[in-house]
Amino acid sequence: MGILGRLSQLFVARSGSGSDDAIHIYVECERCKSKVHVRLDRRHDISLREDGGYYVRKEIMDSKCFRLMTAEIVFDSAYRIQSQEIHGGRFLTPAEFEAPPPVHT
Ligand SMILES: [Zn+2]
Repeated sequence: MGILGRLSQLFVARSGSGSDDAIHIYVECERCKSKVHVRLDRRHDISLREDGGYYVRKEIMDSKCFRLMTAEIVFDSAYRIQSQEIHGGRFLTPAEFEAPPPVHT
């Protein structure tokens, strides 16, 4: 295992103190098809709406073509997604995110 792998393991171990206070979304870049995992911190990334729900507007950049995507998500008071919109890419389910990229033979 290389040093990057070890570092990311440390990261996981440190943040894994019981319940994760973040919301995870997965997106795919429209241009280069890179998949990006985005961690939304409930305290820093998400704003309270007047009607009791939550709202986030997040700029996301993939690590391949560095094109900026903008995601806007509306949550209810239990952090369930009410509506989501993204420019420059599309949302993935966790299963789609985990799936290996198609193999070109
Ligand atoms: Zn891209």
